[in-house]
Amino acid sequence: MLAVLDKIMKEIRNAHDFDEAVLILVQRVRESIEADSCAIFIHDHHLSQLVMLATKGYKVKSVGTIRLDLNLGLIGAIATHKELLNVADAQLHPAFYSFPELGENQYHAFIGVPIVYQGRLLGVIVAQREVAECFSDREESFLVTLALHCSQEIARAEMLGAITQLSHAAIQHKEVLLNGSPGSPGVGLGVGFVVFPKADLDVVPDKVMQDVVSEIELFRLAVETIREEITDLSARLESNLAPEDRALFDAYLLMLDENSLGFEVEQEIRRGNWAQGALRKVIKLHIRQFESMDDPYLRDRAEDVRDLGQRVLAALQKREKQAPVDYPEKLILVGDEITAADLAEVPIANLKGIVSRAGSSNAHIAILARTLGVPAIMGVEGLIPSRFENKNVVVDGYYGHVYLDPSDIIVREFNRLLQEEHQLNEDLKGLRKLPAETTDGHVVTLLVNTGLSSDLGLSLSVGADGVGLYRTEIPFLARELFPSSEEQKIIYRQLLNAFFPRPVTMRTLDVGGDKTPDYFRVKEDNPFLGWRGIRISLDHPELFLMQVRAMLKASIGYDNLKIMLPMISDVAEVDDAMQLIKLAYAGLLSEGLQVKMPQVGVMIEVPSAVYQTYAIAKKVNFISVGSNDLTQYLLAVDRNNAKVANLYNSFHPAVLMALTHIVHEAHRAGIPVSICGEMAGDPLAVLLLLGIGFDALSMSASRLLRIKWVIRQFSFEKAKALVAEVSDMEDAAAIRTRLEFELESVGLGSLIHAGRN
Ligand code: PEP
Ligand code: MG
Repeated sequence: MLAVLDKIMKEIRNAHDFDEAVLILVQRVRESIEADSCAIFIHDHHLSQLVMLATKGYKVKSVGTIRLDLNLGLIGAIATHKELLNVADAQLHPAFYSFPELGENQYHAFIGVPIVYQGRLLGVIVAQREVAECFSDREESFLVTLALHCSQEIARAEMLGAITQLSHAAIQHKEVLLNGSPGSPGVGLGVGFVVFPKADLDVVPDKVMQDVVSEIELFRLAVETIREEITDLSARLESNLAPEDRALFDAYLLMLDENSLGFEVEQEIRRGNWAQGALRKVIKLHIRQFESMDDPYLRDRAEDVRDLGQRVLAALQKREKQAPVDYPEKLILVGDEITAADLAEVPIANLKGIVSRAGSSNAHIAILARTLGVPAIMGVEGLIPSRFENKNVVVDGYYGHVYLDPSDIIVREFNRLLQEEHQLNEDLKGLRKLPAETTDGHVVTLLVNTGLSSDLGLSLSVGADGVGLYRTEIPFLARELFPSSEEQKIIYRQLLNAFFPRPVTMRTLDVGGDKTPDYFRVKEDNPFLGWRGIRISLDHPELFLMQVRAMLKASIGYDNLKIMLPMISDVAEVDDAMQLIKLAYAGLLSEGLQVKMPQVGVMIEVPSAVYQTYAIAKKVNFISVGSNDLTQYLLAVDRNNAKVANLYNSFHPAVLMALTHIVHEAHRAGIPVSICGEMAGDPLAVLLLLGIGFDALSMSASRLLRIKWVIRQFSFEKAKALVAEVSDMEDAAAIRTRLEFELESVGLGSLIHAGRN
């Protein structure tokens, strides 16, 4: 049965649209388990109904019009309890409800399985027989496994907006409200601008296109690029290629011929689809044809067609990127998984909000949003990005709400909040030139975290004491190739110049985890525990040296550079990195350049390093705590995973104990210690960080004045007393409540609820 299942899934994946896919599904299920009828229903979240999408065997007039309430009958019971039902005679079951529109009177045996994706009900598959006898165990397992596989396909189709029947219902339903995690505070109003995952044939949607001529032109240029690539590759490999492999290249070229695949794609474009959608349709059709062949050699050719399609798609997308895009004036970026590269492509001045189905509030994209002061909602359940294209959207980054097609009342209310927020920022501007000093005279250094060149203006305007964390990987992520030494030097020098004479702490490349540039892509099962940060740098000393040399050269004449090493997990890594930094420094000196040896520091963000703080601290000039990763690694909670976002908590007593230990050990070694994770910009955390004894706090520029405001309301003595008090608490929620109370008591509650007092 596994082979049958495999075959069905292949057919479904290669169907040229969703309607065909569901039809294949019901047909194949009916045949495989010898049922008399089979149907698939999809969950309409907005109306709490199940909509029939396809059937074989039930005599219905029009599938899309059959809607069943979730609380009715056996099908409703499956949906409500997300549980399989396999009964000999449905009509004798206590939950039986007769749906006359299904014409099911002659059927008795009944089996139904829910289709569930990430805990969310997507639909139900049912099958019936005329005889009154339960379906067998094997048939039951078959259906359960099939539903499991289908759930991913349906979730994807939903994301691409391919489930058209449901979108009709949604359109009648103005103002859709979706919930996610608040990734970056603030409110934003604008027009949806959707980004789709790149170069994946399976997720290319259909799009109506008016300008057929330029779409065909775009396609032809992409084909030409691939043709040249293949010819070139074939020529280069000629002497090493076996004749059958060379024949493959020839076959590719033949397929691209304008009388073959190319012709079919152009036909499809002429019917009104855009080039990417037309390509997907044609390629999938051919894959299916090859896969259904009996000859195993020919069957394997399906993969070649897919590969070719994928190449043309990548070339098309590259060309699309180069074409000018009409961005909405107020833009809300919406996508299945928004990346730093997506952010780099849109005009930041227009960006008013970010909405992402994947990710959590600790993901890097959320951190970037906070840096920019742009509201962001992460991990939005049930998000179907394609529905947001060109639609009005309101983003509430405080509560994690997203409104699609908001009513006038909602728009009015959020415009009012926007005004209030603006006013609060204006009021805070008065603090720019004042020190971050407690009421009893203790001064803390406030620094900014930066990475995007577009946040430089904001970083300078808040009056920071310097840069506590420059994430050098961000300009790397936005490029197609590893930046050259000269290119890096120019970027670094701009920043050193802008902040001169204040210090700028540049972190060496911290890619890996959720930040992997395309040119560095490595497939790992556990990327956050894998090849990340300093590990990559030490494995590639040539890249590390190139970066350090660029930093040192950039600092000539300014001398305000500090270098910081990420993801250190033991002392030997510090020694190795120091040796390379000294090598780069000596090399530049020997070239006659007037470089100064910068201060070098280490980020403590891995539990093993916490316990070695003293040993590490003795070797460097400063320590900075990366509380984002430290929380993730101490609590074993993936900072990116929306499913466990509720467990990610930097107020966890274990995190607070680690912070206290780090500060104590760094001071024992006689060096300063700062914190540059998101905690540093959280008004609730600031009192604790102050009391624990951090010398500097480094945060998103958009948070800095709020943090200064809090610091100026309290005494250092009070902060230390609070730390002593909460260090006896065993529960993060209790600690948080205690801190909230403290802020509320001096009238700073608005900072927690952000303008919602
Ligand atoms: C951290 O881990 O706290 C940190 C500042 O680094 P990043 O968020 O870039 O991993
Ligand atoms: Mg980190």
